[in-house]
Amino acid sequence: MAFENLSEKLGAALKKLKGKGVVTEKDIKESMREIKLALLEADVNYKVVKDFIGNVSERAVGADVLESLTPGQQIIKIVNDELAKLMGSDSARIEFAKKPPTIVLMAGLQGAGKTTFCAKLAGFMRKKHNKRPLLVACDIYRPAAVKQLEVVGKQIDIPVFQMGTQVSAVSIATAALEHAKHHGNDFVIIDTAGRLHIDDDLMQELEDIKAAVNPDEILLVIDAMTGQDAVNIAESFNARLEISGVVMTKLDGDTRGGAALSVKAVTGKPIKFAGVGEKLSDIEEFHPDRMASRILGSGDVLSLIEKAQAAFDEKDAAKLEDKIRHNSFNLDDFLAQMQQMKKMGPLTQIMKMIPGVNAKAIDNADIDERKLDRVEAIIKSMTMRERENPSIINASRKRRIAAGSGNNVSDVNLLLKQFEQMQQMMKQFSGGGLGMRKLKKKK
Ligand code: GDP
Repeated sequence: MAFENLSEKLGAALKKLKGKGVVTEKDIKESMREIKLALLEADVNYKVVKDFIGNVSERAVGADVLESLTPGQQIIKIVNDELAKLMGSDSARIEFAKKPPTIVLMAGLQGAGKTTFCAKLAGFMRKKHNKRPLLVACDIYRPAAVKQLEVVGKQIDIPVFQMGTQVSAVSIATAALEHAKHHGNDFVIIDTAGRLHIDDDLMQELEDIKAAVNPDEILLVIDAMTGQDAVNIAESFNARLEISGVVMTKLDGDTRGGAALSVKAVTGKPIKFAGVGEKLSDIEEFHPDRMASRILGSGDVLSLIEKAQAAFDEKDAAKLEDKIRHNSFNLDDFLAQMQQMKKMGPLTQIMKMIPGVNAKAIDNADIDERKLDRVEAIIKSMTMRERENPSIINASRKRRIAAGSGNNVSDVNLLLKQFEQMQQMMKQFSGGGLGMRKLKKKK
């Protein structure tokens, strides 16, 4: 999890202030010193840290006392606000073109996650904004790059425009726009060549593509793990291309956070999206305020709610309610529910967003996602009749299911028992058995 160390250190620095009814200047100085060290250790740019501490100290010493907060809480709020401000305060969005298609030029060094992000963004735009994206393969230096874009495009069923590697990137980009206009693609994402290091040829080519297609957005993809270096990369790209925003990838990894915290302050360009995993659905809009709360450990409830909403379709929810009401919730529904849950992302990642949950404790808790996989495998080895009516599962069926899913009969028994208990519980709440009211009375 990104920011873990930083979270912990900031938490420790602020904890001392939390309960205090009176906070002296000495207390503030002491906390600021610790916060400064924590930020420097997280590889945040030195000048950014200095300004940050200056701003927080100034506001903390002269803070008007809000009645609802203790002085300690007040300082925590100031740190939270300033952290958000550092990352850009308002959430930055993609600017859609008034006249479609919207054109996004993607830039970045090799390995930053550019190609992966192109596909993530396409999927996101289709799902969230009903766009019809077109991916464009302009990395003509590596045949594998064209192939890679085609592979990820296929995975999410988004068309990829390519002309091989013998035509110039500018010609491909120009032809792609024509193609988009004729095929009704209103969102064009241009994947470009990366290099291991910034070089003049790379920049020149990007400038040429920019001049030819006049993009609405130029997004620079940066690997969050690159730390301070990210700031230099961003400055170089920005100087030549005037980028419109940054995409911070691999924020799921064990990054210290320095890149994410420095890049806006140094370049003035906001982080618009975060890549949070290798799957093509692992993309998040970047919200500085929520990220600040996440860093300070007050949880990220809003992101959690959005995740849940994205994973659970309302119609499905209504159908499910109906099933529960009529006592017809079966193992097949159970399987569907589990698969929905999985869409929200790894359980551990979800749990960390809950306020008050200690991220370290979760890492140490060894939550076994494989248990869920096992349950899924067992249900999948059942016939539809068995899923709908588990009571027909006799000893020989159990043996077949166990063997089919690579488990023991005892695992099958355990699942059936747990499911039966779940059904009992649902009955009580459905009004079919004990009604809600009766249940309360019984207590
Ligand atoms: P490109 O060279 O910039 O096009 O980079 P790729 O898209 O090929 O990605 C490089 C590697 O980073 C691949 O192994 C990706 O799976 C991985 N990757 C990309 N984005 C993320 C992310 O958000 N999180 C994680 N953990 N890995 C990522």
